[in-house]
Formats: sequence, structure tokens, C-alpha cells
Amino acid sequence: FAINMTQLQLEEELGRGNYGTVKKVLHKPTKVYMAMKEIRLELDDAKLNGIIMELDILHRAAAPEIVDFYGAFFIESCVYYCMEYMDAGSLDKLEQDGIPEPVLGRIVGSMVRGLKFLKDDMQIIHRDVKPTNVLVNKKGEVKLCDFGVSGQLERSLAKTNIGCQSYMAPERIKGESQNNLGTYTVSSDVWSLGLSVIEMALGHYPYPPETYANVFAQLTAIVHGDPPELPEEGYSDEAKDFVARCLHRVPEMRATYAELLDHPFLVRDRTLEVDMVGWVAKAVESRDTRQRKQIEEAKHLQSLSD
Ligand code: ADP
Repeated sequence: FAINMTQLQLEEELGRGNYGTVKKVLHKPTKVYMAMKEIRLELDDAKLNGIIMELDILHRAAAPEIVDFYGAFFIESCVYYCMEYMDAGSLDKLEQDGIPEPVLGRIVGSMVRGLKFLKDDMQIIHRDVKPTNVLVNKKGEVKLCDFGVSGQLERSLAKTNIGCQSYMAPERIKGESQNNLGTYTVSSDVWSLGLSVIEMALGHYPYPPETYANVFAQLTAIVHGDPPELPEEGYSDEAKDFVARCLHRVPEMRATYAELLDHPFLVRDRTLEVDMVGWVAKAVESRDTRQRKQIEEAKHLQSLSD
């Protein structure tokens, strides 16, 4: 069946990304809550239709580690994309206090299985692995979203978006600066995975913007500097080695997904009992408290300036 706007009841906004807004919606015929992403694109109908057709292969991307796709449509110059609603949101907002290692292991295991499924079963390279694109629900499930399935959509979303938090592998940053988009291989995603693991462990991006004079200096550090590592203290050797296997400057030296699944860090994870439900509940609570405080502070500042 095909989803259209008349079947949807709009609820609250879930977040804003670089390219559009994500809203919670109720699909009235099935009573299923969904997350609907709106992407504004200045394209003609033929191109928008092409994107909707390309997105269709997502119906086949059904796996426990991948956010379910329900359908996409366009109205005027906006593409609407409906997916599984993940009620604990994205990991970037849950990691602020740093994620404890056992929970991290569980999350990373899901990410690697999801990435391996995309590559082996769907021939899809994710291209945008980062904590924002890892969604969690209160059942403790961890799933990937926002992977590159539509060539047309990728081309339309400005490629210039090398923000101050780049998860791009060194070869990709170099390629991009030479306007060469052909250098992307699956091992570029492995780099982004390694960087995400460090970020989730520490609770902040591993190349902190305040350490660099500008974005150029930061990108130079990614391309030419030593890859980041987990701190010596506080993490197991397995975790540290896992990250090192992902963050090699030479793409061919990085581990494959099969190797990562066999890595002691993830082998050990499969023997551990981890309370994901409990961790998610606590992380959501502390995120919501933090957000409430921010809103109150903003209101307070506003009242001072009035
Ligand atoms: P970006 O463009 O930065 O990748 P997105 O536009 O994909 O961000 O998403 C913006 C925010 O919306 C996310 O950070 C997340 O909090 C929320 N969000 C996205 N997809 C979902 C979903 N399926 N369920 C719940 N929340 C979501």
C-alpha cells in the first residue's frame, strides 16, 4: 500500500536536521505512529518521482538493525519520507554523559550488523555513519537510518556540507576537496564508525572544534594527524583495539565488518548481559531534564532582555 498525506495526522516535531524537519505522525488507517521527514528540494516533478522510485528499494531493507521504511511521497517541492518511530530518539542526544562500555558494546554490535546487512544483502554503502543517524527505542533496540539509497537525492542535498563535525574518512575529505566523489568505499564507513564509537564513549566529538582555529585546521588534523584513540584509562584493551582497527588512515588497513564482528570487543559483548532498557530509560530522562533546563534558561535570558 502507498502512504499519502491525507492518511496522516501530524503530531509534535521530533527534531531538525541539516536538510529538513522530522515530525511524529499517526497513520490513521493502521493506527501506527511514524516519523515523517520532510526534505525540501527545488526539483521538477520528474526528478522528484525518480527519487520516490529509488527510495522504493528501502521496502526490502528489512532487518532488526535498520529503521523500518513505510513509504515516501512528494507534494510540491518537498519529499516526505515515513519511517518507524523510534521513541528514544537519536544517540547524539543520549550520549552526553558518555556511554558505559557494556552498553557501548551492545550499540556497536547492532551498528556493525546493520552496516554489514546493508552492504552484503542490499549492496548499499551507508555514507553517513554518525551518532545522529543511530536511533534507539525504549525496548532497547538500536537501528540505523539515513543511508544513501537514492543517487538523485544524494546529489540534490548539497555536497558542500562539511560541517564542523565531520565524520568523513581522510580519503573522502581529500577526494571531496579535489571534487572527486569516486573515492568512497565501504571502508570509509568503517572510519566513521570508529569515530562514532569514540564520540559515544566520551560524550563528545573526538576533534573538538574549540581546539582548532577553524574548520580547515580541523579537517587537516583528520587528514594528516594521528587518528584519535580511546583514552588509555577507563576502557578495556578490547574496546581500544576495536577503535584502532576502524581508525586507520589507510582505508585498506581498516577492518571489514566480518572482522569487526569477530573482534574480541564484540565477541565479549555477545556473552554479556546488558540492561539496555534501563540505560535507555535513564539516558532519556537525563536528556529531557537537560532540555527542560535549556528552555528555562532561554526563557530567563529572554525575560532579562525584555
Ligand atoms: P540529520 O539531517 O542531522 O541527520 P535528521 O533530519 O535525520 O537529522 O533528524 C533530525 C532529528 O529528528 C534526529 O536527531 C532525531 O532526534 C529525530 N528523528 C529522526 N528520525 C527519527 C525517527 N525515526 N524516530 C524518532 N526520532 C527521529
